[in-house]
Amino acid sequence: MPSRRATRAAGHAGSRPMILEARDVRHWYGEFLALDGVSLAIEPGQVVSIIGPNGAGKSTLVNVLTGVLRPSAGAVRFKGRDIRGLGPARLARLGLARSFQLVQIFPELTARETLQAAAVSRLGRGRRLLAALAADREVARDAEVVAELFGLRERLDAPARTLPQGDKKLLDVAAAFALRPEAILLDEPTSGVSTRDKTGIMEMLVRASRGVGIQALLLVEHDMDIVFGYSDRIVCLQQGRVLADTTPSGLRADDAVLAAMLGRVVLERRREPPPIAAPGGSS
Ligand code: ADP
Ligand code: MG
Repeated sequence: MPSRRATRAAGHAGSRPMILEARDVRHWYGEFLALDGVSLAIEPGQVVSIIGPNGAGKSTLVNVLTGVLRPSAGAVRFKGRDIRGLGPARLARLGLARSFQLVQIFPELTARETLQAAAVSRLGRGRRLLAALAADREVARDAEVVAELFGLRERLDAPARTLPQGDKKLLDVAAAFALRPEAILLDEPTSGVSTRDKTGIMEMLVRASRGVGIQALLLVEHDMDIVFGYSDRIVCLQQGRVLADTTPSGLRADDAVLAAMLGRVVLERRREPPPIAAPGGSS
């Protein structure tokens, strides 16, 4: 699965244009430098994970890459076009989507309405939104196609708030897919769900990406099993800098970087309540 994608991407490296690119990006919050010269380039066909300890700058980077935040310095391009500060709605129309956590924002909508809301925004019919929904066949069909891709068909008419946690996550990811993007950025698509559900969500994600022709998938992810299992590339952030831009096997072989990433993860976990049973010592 991921290795197939990696091979395909690697085979074309150099000859294909970058779909998304950041060059020497800096971002200050007041006096605090949150991104300190970040460069990365994502080629079509790649699943790229951004990892790093809390405060490393992952969310800031995602916000910069999706036009939510205009960086203090540096360049950000999508398909060669300057997208600094463009805003997520305009970027979505250009073909770069992020998940919006619609389920949290509109818990009373049904799964169908959530997907339709996303499809409506893609089609630029945001104005009289609810009035347009029922009547619009294209929107209705789009929502069903995406629901099918994510195995949510049976749940289409359930209020989003009543869905199990794993399905809520899936619905948010599916809503981003309903924008029909060429590239998609997801900030922790599997947070708050069980390991078994995480794998299910990732399988759906990768399969659905192929199904709708999404060219690049960028994830911020904490779960290292997911990171190692599904990434073609892993961008390791530490204190606003790219410590390593590597592959799963490259990261496994790099003790220093791995310790910088995992060491902090272990520290973060220690702040959580201790497990009831004896620790499993995963990895
Ligand atoms: P991550 O997602 O990797 O945990 P963030 O991008 O959220 O990291 O944050 C990077 C650093 O910037 C952190 O030290 C954080 O405290 C700081 N930061 C994030 N957002 C703001 C903000 N709006 N104002 C000031 N500091 C911020
Ligand atoms: Mg974050």
